[in-house]
Amino acid sequence: MKTEVVVIGGGPSGLLLSQLLNKAGVATVVLERSSREHVLSRIRAGILEWGTVELLREAGVGARMDAEGYPHDGTYLTDAELMVHIDFKALTGKQVMVYGQTEVTHDLYDAQDAMGTTVIHGVEDVTIHDLDASEAAVEYTLNGERHRITCAYVAGCDGFHGVSRETIPEEKRREFERVYPFGWLGILSRTPPVHDELIYSNSPHGFALASMRNENLVRYYVQVPLTDKVEDWSDERFWTEFKRRIPSEAAARLVTGPSIEKSIAPLRSFVSEPLRWGRLFLVGDAAHIVPPTGAKGLNLAVSDVYYLHEALIAALKSGQSAGIDGYSKRALARIWKAMRFSWQMTTMLHRFEGEDSFAEEMRRATLRHLADSETARKDLAENYVGLPF
Ligand SMILES: Cc1cc2nc3c(=O)[nH]c(=O)nc-3n(C[C@H](O)[C@H](O)[C@H](O)COP(=O)(O)OP(=O)(O)OC[C@H]3O[C@@H](n4cnc5c(N)ncnc54)[C@H](O)[C@@H]3O)c2cc1C
Repeated sequence: MKTEVVVIGGGPSGLLLSQLLNKAGVATVVLERSSREHVLSRIRAGILEWGTVELLREAGVGARMDAEGYPHDGTYLTDAELMVHIDFKALTGKQVMVYGQTEVTHDLYDAQDAMGTTVIHGVEDVTIHDLDASEAAVEYTLNGERHRITCAYVAGCDGFHGVSRETIPEEKRREFERVYPFGWLGILSRTPPVHDELIYSNSPHGFALASMRNENLVRYYVQVPLTDKVEDWSDERFWTEFKRRIPSEAAARLVTGPSIEKSIAPLRSFVSEPLRWGRLFLVGDAAHIVPPTGAKGLNLAVSDVYYLHEALIAALKSGQSAGIDGYSKRALARIWKAMRFSWQMTTMLHRFEGEDSFAEEMRRATLRHLADSETARKDLAENYVGLPF
């Protein structure tokens, strides 16, 4: 088989890249390890920056998002004493959209079907070759048979545990990592949200986030030690803990019900540089991970896709290589800013085991500064709604 771009990974970044490239007349083959059902069953991100919203519309997959998504004008940050409203709309003129990653991926698969692009599921043992030759190649096994595709470029959209990043020789990669000593236990439940905007709560009992998907579907989280297992957390234990970590007026409105999904995600910051190795480009979680506190994971994957699709179209359609030569530097500049914001939100909102009293006062002072300073709120809002691409 031969194509222009092989995309490894059929998650949000791989599918969106394929969608934008095919719209511009660039042929792709997407190779995905899991089944479509499995990809669509993963409950992950839920907040879209406005730049993400606009790019999804441009890609032709915005209709259901616009009909069923929930634009949010702001969010709340709170501790036991103070509740600070960050009014995105008033401070930046922008909003964010509440629309689940599962739905985004669903819309992208439907759009790929409608365009008749090639998405191959169930591939195993993907290997990448000839990245310094005039033509690259990707090999994979499907139903016990080995296949080879030659192509001009390879997009590594295969997440943190994929093969693409590892294909870059270890001595040529520079990796930066911070692992946080806690995780987020998240549940999905068919109950009405405690509030019509998100509440990030730094309570004396630990962090909690009240998030939502729609008027009868909530995504709530509590900070838990990394040693905890999902089996340790009955629904009843979760609701009790969540209730004591959110402000009392929200707790009074809390409606509980059975969880329909429950999982623990560890929190980590990670960047691998560079994002280009010959004919291979890394995109999204394949190159970087942020703790979910800043709602940036999916949105960063989307900004990488934005930069790369422009670069690949210019290279393949007009023979201009400036975009692909500059991709790594351009994308990393935005990635590091989102890393900083996600780290700052995580540090500001979580209790760290064994921390000193100084750390607690710093968190309190940060929240008070946000309450008193419009400049501070504007800075937070600007980062939350998303820095420009
Ligand atoms: C549990 C969890 C919760 C999260 N919660 C949030 C959140 O609340 N907010 C937020 O902003 N972000 C969140 N994120 C991050 C966000 O979901 C990711 O940033 C986003 O999925 C990145 O998209 P991606 O396409 O780059 O990677 P992925 O979504 O990881 O997709 C990669 C795809 O590649 C496939 N793949 C992997 N290896 C191979 C291979 N060798 N061959 C072929 N295919 C392969 C995988 O099956 C997968 O479908 C969460 C992530 C996780 C894991």
